[in-house]
Amino acid sequence: MTELIFIIPCSGIGKAFGTISREATYQVVEDLRKGETDTLCLSLLVIGDEDSNHLVQSHRCIAIDGCPLECAKKNLQLAGAKLTTNFRVVDLLKEHQNLKPKNITFLDQEGRELAKLLADQIAAKIDELNRGEIDS
Ligand code: SF4
Repeated sequence: MTELIFIIPCSGIGKAFGTISREATYQVVEDLRKGETDTLCLSLLVIGDEDSNHLVQSHRCIAIDGCPLECAKKNLQLAGAKLTTNFRVVDLLKEHQNLKPKNITFLDQEGRELAKLLADQIAAKIDELNRGEIDS
């Protein structure tokens, strides 16, 4: 059986970035790679929750951040997680400048397109990790 990989999105509010990171995470965990992945609330790591710390220390993790501040990546590093790689919504926006999400709480069409693109990239990375093609 394949070991679970934890996908940890940042908790950004106020811009669409954080919403896209969380939506992409849900698409991977609940659909694209259901059963191979799981997630947990970043805030539990921030407050030092022991069970959450243990989970990220004992499983491979992928951080999904909205912007260059990389809150998910940094908190995973602080928690001693087995961090394999990270994605940033801001990088995706640079690659797809035709897509400009405007809504924050509920993603509009362009926000949903970006979330799907990001989810597909995460799923591909999980496949690489499980095939042992990249360090884990
Ligand atoms: S990475 Fe950026 S968008 Fe995400 S929680 Fe941190 S500051 Fe907010």
